[in-house]
Amino acid sequence: MKKAVSSFEYEVYKSASQLTESDQILIHEAKEALKKSYSPYSKFKVGASALVKGGAILSGANMENAAYPMCICAEGVLLSSVEATFPGETIETIAITAKSSSVKLLSPPTPCGACRQLISEKENRQGKSIRVILFAENTEIYVIETIKDILPFSFDGSVI
Ligand SMILES: [Zn+2]
Repeated sequence: MKKAVSSFEYEVYKSASQLTESDQILIHEAKEALKKSYSPYSKFKVGASALVKGGAILSGANMENAAYPMCICAEGVLLSSVEATFPGETIETIAITAKSSSVKLLSPPTPCGACRQLISEKENRQGKSIRVILFAENTEIYVIETIKDILPFSFDGSVI
């Protein structure tokens, strides 16, 4: 037996002004997407935006339902929107944010496991990693170079 280590590096910024103009626009669009959130049950709004190759930006927000298992995360709405609008197109960067009326976020929100898998599959399909920007109001901003960093040993279907 031997022990192995899995780790990754990510960038941490104090302010959006430290990022590129393109990233700042994406961050703005993710914040705007919070307004599209339908989250009457959790009161936890999530907004996500994507920069698609060619410069287009699309966004999505979480969509809840009285039948809780039917709730759709913002990232799922976003990825579906990208595929519906630009089928097969490459996503360069995704920005994700959240806002709660009952909890103060002390650190950036991170995608749930299912959404990490969705983004990972998109990376596989497009053959290119997707930068992920995570932030919330008054938190630091994390920039991750690929979703695989936060989904180690991801399932990619190649084992089937
Ligand atoms: Zn999710």
